[in-house]
Amino acid sequence: MTNDHPLLYWCLQPLLLVSVLALWLTDPTREESYLLTIVGVQVILGVIEHYFPARPTWTTRAKEKVRNVLFVFVLSIIAVIIGEFYRDVLSHPLANFRQSLGLDIWPHDWPLLAQLFLVFFTSEFIWYWMHRAEHRWKIVWRLSGHGAHHAFKKLGALNFGLNHPAEYFLILLPSLLVELIFGVGAAAAGAAIFTVTQTSIVHANIAMNSRGIGWLFTTNKHHICHHSSVLEESNMNYGCSAIVWDRVFMTFLNRTVEDAGTGPTEPTMWQKFLMPVKEPDDTSIAPGGHSA
Ligand SMILES: [Zn+2]
Repeated sequence: MTNDHPLLYWCLQPLLLVSVLALWLTDPTREESYLLTIVGVQVILGVIEHYFPARPTWTTRAKEKVRNVLFVFVLSIIAVIIGEFYRDVLSHPLANFRQSLGLDIWPHDWPLLAQLFLVFFTSEFIWYWMHRAEHRWKIVWRLSGHGAHHAFKKLGALNFGLNHPAEYFLILLPSLLVELIFGVGAAAAGAAIFTVTQTSIVHANIAMNSRGIGWLFTTNKHHICHHSSVLEESNMNYGCSAIVWDRVFMTFLNRTVEDAGTGPTEPTMWQKFLMPVKEPDDTSIAPGGHSA
């Protein structure tokens, strides 16, 4: 991708990340911050994608955009319900687990930002392996409905939340496990805000730089490569927010790809919903075997 708009190319990702962190730090316990961040980041990225798209052919029509917004809204409600369910059933057992194993080791005395990045990179480590399992094990691919997230031929910031409802049972787990097992506290909310900003940025149809920032954090070049319709490219870059684990475990690929999706055509929304039970015939990136 060319940097026709140097300010956006060099500054957008770091500026958004620093801004959401600074806003969160003004009141780390404010409950509305997560929702306000999602809306704010999505509006900013949506407007920029509209006026300065990296791939003009990926710009969605108004009708598609409205449909995607509605889907993200409904899926967000489903995610909240699953998250509350997990908290209800996991909070006490995991607190007991922490006490019985003496896992009261969380560094509560560290600066909040340092704690935030500890939650972030630990959660991303867990997500790396879950996501890798989705792509390498057919049973996990199908049951999670992860193919639905990959099925879109046009990507944009809104794709951060366009996952199969079943997949939210997996997506929500890593950060929740870290938070509840270690009794993290306020930093967990900051990590959630940072992560949702990152997952929005990495799907954005905007030309952005990958050098420097791309050593630790996933950029949209990395993640769009993961959304490639070519199996060898989609089977790389499993870290959706932190790319460092891909570098550590040798699954990093720094390549610009043009064609996203699960195959040459995009399934309908209904076909995407049915992907756990019926894979579209032209899917090219589903795992065939079970090598990890
Ligand atoms: Zn994936």
